[in-house]
Amino acid sequence: GSWYQVKTLDGGFYQARMKGVFKMDEDITSTNPIAVGDIVEVVEEEKEAANAMITEIAPRRNYIVRSSPHKRSHKHIVAANLDQAVLVCTIKEPRTSRGFIDRFLVTAAAYHIPAVLVFNKKDLLKEKDREKFLEMADVYTDIGYPVLLISAAKGEGITEVQEMLKDKVTLMSGHSGVGKSSLINQLLPGMQLRTKEVSGWSGKGLHTTTFAEMFDLPDGGQIIDTPGLREFGIIDIPKTELSHYFLEMQPYITQCQFNNCLHINEPGCAVKAAVEEGEIDTDRYISYATILETIEEERY
Ligand code: GDP
Ligand code: ZN
Repeated sequence: GSWYQVKTLDGGFYQARMKGVFKMDEDITSTNPIAVGDIVEVVEEEKEAANAMITEIAPRRNYIVRSSPHKRSHKHIVAANLDQAVLVCTIKEPRTSRGFIDRFLVTAAAYHIPAVLVFNKKDLLKEKDREKFLEMADVYTDIGYPVLLISAAKGEGITEVQEMLKDKVTLMSGHSGVGKSSLINQLLPGMQLRTKEVSGWSGKGLHTTTFAEMFDLPDGGQIIDTPGLREFGIIDIPKTELSHYFLEMQPYITQCQFNNCLHINEPGCAVKAAVEEGEIDTDRYISYATILETIEEERY
């Protein structure tokens, strides 16, 4: 809506509205220029001291945008001033695909936001699943992404999550049904986000809220929950830049024969050679090629 909750430096709260029209970046058209995580200046209203007018938005350190599902050119800011982004994922019930994970990581890299993978539902893993998980976890930790394995339902691994979140502003994402609400409930005692039982084998939970919210963590730091935001969408990236956001490809890119190499069919491609030699994970390369196909050539 048009009311925002603004937290003051001394821990108080205002119900605030915007005053006037704010200047926006040219490529962002929105009826809602303020996002969760924005730092604003307010002026208290004369009649009602609990209310305030937002008079200024501080320059953003970073922000993520989302295109409208109806009109791609219509974008709005989802959240601003993030220290990191966490993807809550699962090996089963439901399984988060490698493609989904890699798209999330590409987007985070393109926004220059450090990313963390938190695998939930550890309790469901059998010996074989655990082996597969460890193999995959190795791929991501080798690239430099922290990976945690937890069970929100059983309260396992929550301390590690708390340490990772401490004193930081963290965006929490995840497919519906992975247990993101259950995890947030563990992190915010006394505050119950609504969770729903997963229905049947499809393993999909149901969401109830649709706007992003920020919560203070008891030990310092904040989390931002974005209900209904399944993925934070692929940022507009030219084809030739995609490999920059597959961080492990970076050292090879400059060694390709052609400087506009897309690392698919070109001769003398150092990235493909690294895949063949096992220095770059094959599944990561498949994600790369799949995402590359989704980038519309004519845009660039
Ligand atoms: P969200 O859609 O990501 O917010 O997921 P919810 O928190 O609503 O959880 C979806 C379903 O997964 C619910 O039935 C939870 O009880 C269940 N769930 C959450 N965490 C765990 C876990 O660690 N282990 C198991 N087995 N189930 C879990
Ligand atoms: Zn190449």
